[in-house]
Amino acid sequence: TERTLVLVKPDGVSRGLVGEVITRLERKGLRLVAAELRTLDRETAETHYAEHRERPFFADLVEFITGGPLMALVVEGPRAIEAFRALAGATDPVKAGPGTIRGDFALEVQNNIVHGSDSPESAEREVTLFFPNLA
Ligand code: ATP
Repeated sequence: TERTLVLVKPDGVSRGLVGEVITRLERKGLRLVAAELRTLDRETAETHYAEHRERPFFADLVEFITGGPLMALVVEGPRAIEAFRALAGATDPVKAGPGTIRGDFALEVQNNIVHGSDSPESAEREVTLFFPNLA
């Protein structure tokens, strides 16, 4: 079994899609281990997205992710990292297939509803960043 960090980003929370996302991952067979609604401070957001620090969209991304409450989830199951990324769909929601979260609910690459860790290393780093007591 494996753990991954899932975020329902501020656009997903403001659009009332928290339940939809949780329903889909639970229906898949993944299990919730932790959940917290919170608004990120700038420092946590910059740490979370550190790999994108040099990208032209970084400042906008930090504004967006700190712009309102998000729902942070730790999700567990066999190959949970890959399983959730398949549920989420491609980063660009226009390219994400119908039936995926982004494919069904989003149109813009920044406002793409959810985040899921992309490797065991980032999952461990991100779970620890959001839920230091869980490590
Ligand atoms: P996440 O890490 O959120 O699961 P991802 O791994 O699919 O998404 P990354 O390439 O790591 O995508 O990008 C992280 C986030 O940065 C994206 O989810 C999106 O919100 C934003 N982003 C990525 N590319 C762009 C872009 N070209 N313009 C604006 N925002 C972008």
